[in-house]
Amino acid sequence: STGDHVAALVIGSGYGGAVTALRLTQAGIATAVVEMGMAWNTAGSNGKIFCDMLEPDQRSYWLRTTTDQPLGYFLGINVNKSITRYTGVLDSEKFAGIRVYQGRGVGGGSLVNGGMAVVPRRDYFAEILPSVDVASMYDTYFPRANAGLGVNAIDTAWFETASCYRYARVSRDQARASGYSTTFLNNVYDFGYMKQELAGTVTRSALASEVIYGNNYGKRSLDKTYLAAAAATGRLSITAQHVVTAVAPNSAGGYTVTMNQIDTAGATVTTKTVRADRVFFAAGSIGTSKLLVAMRAQGALPNLPSAVGQGWGNNGNVMVARAQHLWNTTGALEAGMPAMGIDNWADPAGPVFAEIAPFPAGTELWISLYLAITKNPNRAQFSYNSSTGAVELSWQTAQNQPAVNAAKRVFDTINKAQVTVYRSDLFGVNKVWGDDFTYHPLGGCILNQATDNYGRLPGYPGLYVMDGSLIPGSTGVNPFVTITALAERNIEKIISTDLT
Ligand code: FAD
Repeated sequence: STGDHVAALVIGSGYGGAVTALRLTQAGIATAVVEMGMAWNTAGSNGKIFCDMLEPDQRSYWLRTTTDQPLGYFLGINVNKSITRYTGVLDSEKFAGIRVYQGRGVGGGSLVNGGMAVVPRRDYFAEILPSVDVASMYDTYFPRANAGLGVNAIDTAWFETASCYRYARVSRDQARASGYSTTFLNNVYDFGYMKQELAGTVTRSALASEVIYGNNYGKRSLDKTYLAAAAATGRLSITAQHVVTAVAPNSAGGYTVTMNQIDTAGATVTTKTVRADRVFFAAGSIGTSKLLVAMRAQGALPNLPSAVGQGWGNNGNVMVARAQHLWNTTGALEAGMPAMGIDNWADPAGPVFAEIAPFPAGTELWISLYLAITKNPNRAQFSYNSSTGAVELSWQTAQNQPAVNAAKRVFDTINKAQVTVYRSDLFGVNKVWGDDFTYHPLGGCILNQATDNYGRLPGYPGLYVMDGSLIPGSTGVNPFVTITALAERNIEKIISTDLT
């Protein structure tokens, strides 16, 4: 509450924030996490915490009156529906040229994501973050992240016969027959639990169309891993439904952090200020970049470097779907957690790493869906609009054309070899490419450019950046393992150098 003085305040409870909270509390430092989303620990009207994808209700979206599904159309018809405005778990944040999907709640993106836990290629990691010692990442911090996250591998023999992965096997076999290699993907969803779901011995979650609006069972989200371990130290406090709006130096030392407590309709209930000796920005690529760019422009943190707000990218995301022949059924039951990817990253003409994505509609659709990660070199900047008070992102939809081109090479080849066609009715009317949204916002506060080599903000001792904003727009795979491992590396250094 107002007037409080805390040793460490963490803004946001996603991957960067959860790692920071655990390592600080383990080091004996009382830590306050402030999260704008809800705690997601109480069942709703249907007896479950989260709603599913077939019947999205108010719990699905962050402060919207209609759903904004990534696949918003079917047969060219808009399938979004009206919902009550509520602090739901998935935000589709709209900028001029892109919608950015993000998790809102204690656990951040871990509540809504597909759980795919992928370590980036070593040579590509070295390319994107050249100031980081690669050996220590692969020897120490990636293994530490995987352990902390509870990453597990699928039973590959089970995968071959499980009805819920028929969709993945069909896509895999066609990719291979078209000359591409595929790879299993680790996940934080408990594959042992999923086996029991299929066997009918436990309540279904991944097999009950639960994923982007939360999973009621089976998922090792951060509230069950890093944040639970931090809470067990007795030194953690988490304050949900509080939006941090300002951070500025405090004349008594440390920083004043201003926040709005909000109700479930998003209205401000009260405004609070606390003093923190140290502040860790972990509000995600978008949240951290927006806050820092606003604080620099408004004069609260005027000396932040010009690199703050630069270098944002969408990890080359583009989605696409193919129509299968009637004899190639993809299955009425699709596991919501992807388990396989097409790996064409080594192709210098257009690197693509495409996850074989589920379309868990609960009925046979003959659709093969993919989320392609490409090496799109385009980047964007955040800027403060002083007349509206909003922070804008310069990304234009056309900047995603390199991603479309790279994905098109792969899927044109597969379509030709399989004599299949694209679905053009799922992302709009006559629109093949889902090129105007991303699940993987990265950058805006790049390591060793906007911060020092460990996330310290220059000129402001005690201010740190810990999340996906440190990564320069691309990591070549699904990003949360990279974000977690980098946070593990940085917080270890910060604790040993700045806090003892
Ligand atoms: P986040 O996890 O976004 O956490 C930031 C937190 O800060 C949020 O909880 C937010 O509510 C809070 N916050 C923001 N601003 C403020 C503020 N001003 N005050 C207080 N709190 C604030 N990645 C993978 O690796 N594998 C996948 O399978 C995968 N699937 C995905 C599927 C979907 C639908 C989505 C949306 C994302 C997916 N991702 C996946 C991406 C992954 O979830 C993100 O890369 C990751 O969550 C980013 O971590 P972070 O710590 O940077 O930020």
